[in-house]
Amino acid sequence: MKEGYRGVVIGGGPAGITAGLYCARSGLDVVLIERGVIGGQITNAAQVENYPGFPQGISGIELGQRMHEQATGYGLETLFAEVIGHLVSTSEGDFIAKSVIIASGSQFRKLSVPGEAELAGKGVSYCATCDGPFFRDKAVAVIGGGDTALTEAIYLSKFASKVSIIHRRDELRASKVLQKKAETEPKIDFVWNAVVDRIEGEGTVRQLRLRNTKDGIISLLPADGVFIAVGVEPETGYLQGILPLDEKGRIITNEVMETRIPGILAAGDVRHNSARQAITAAGDGATAALSAERFVSSL
Ligand code: NAP
Repeated sequence: MKEGYRGVVIGGGPAGITAGLYCARSGLDVVLIERGVIGGQITNAAQVENYPGFPQGISGIELGQRMHEQATGYGLETLFAEVIGHLVSTSEGDFIAKSVIIASGSQFRKLSVPGEAELAGKGVSYCATCDGPFFRDKAVAVIGGGDTALTEAIYLSKFASKVSIIHRRDELRASKVLQKKAETEPKIDFVWNAVVDRIEGEGTVRQLRLRNTKDGIISLLPADGVFIAVGVEPETGYLQGILPLDEKGRIITNEVMETRIPGILAAGDVRHNSARQAITAAGDGATAALSAERFVSSL
């Protein structure tokens, strides 16, 4: 059992790192726990163009690393471990702290169709930045109509011979600026009102079985790879029964990131009503750290 920490931050994305930076700078002994990669979801972005301070844009990986370097410079300690049970029970031991900031973000939503799990890593991917270069001169499909799907499709068009965006409606959810970019890219085409019924192939993806959402007609789309970008789900499984969650499993907070349990704060994508942007996550993290500081000094 590791005691003596005044703050524990769960999650190493923009929200968690910013919370860690603020806590460390205010003199709280704080440990940040991350189970995967520093930077969180933002590391999947080849280029982040809307984070203030980087007029030429910055890669998601570099943005995460820079944030972490800054926080570490002020004394933030980082532990690579998975939170597995009670709030601060991790695969590397238990922590006792006066305040906990939950910033565990979200994970990719799955399609849950036959072939998805079987062909994961064999043509099925959730990260164009990671796997795009494997699809040079190949035909790929991107599933989804949000910002992620369009960002991934635009990135993939640098490598692939053809990129088909498959969307379940005939109207995109993505921002207008991304829509315009995708629509003017000659390698990108759109398959409207379609969902994937099955991903087919033996050992590697060969084609997608699509179902038209209006008339139910089935069609086959040849593809060497499929990038699934149908949104995210909050990473809160370990909080079931501990904290009140909304109907989508996100943590309910007030405007200063306090949950219903005193001393437990939540920040970023993991919380109800998050705008799900790197910059708003960082803002949440700062607010949560200030609330944590206030709570600890009131004890
Ligand atoms: P999202 O905005 O939730 O979009 C998910 C897309 O997947 C929607 O088009 C949705 O269709 C579709 N979808 C969901 N479940 C599906 C299913 N089972 N089968 C088929 N399609 C399905 O998620 P996101 O694109 O990952 O974006 C998440 C957040 O990150 C957003 O706030 C976004 O603005 C932000 N983001 C920003 C940038 C940027 O600023 N450059 C880049 C990436 C992400 P419907 O439209 O029909 O619901």
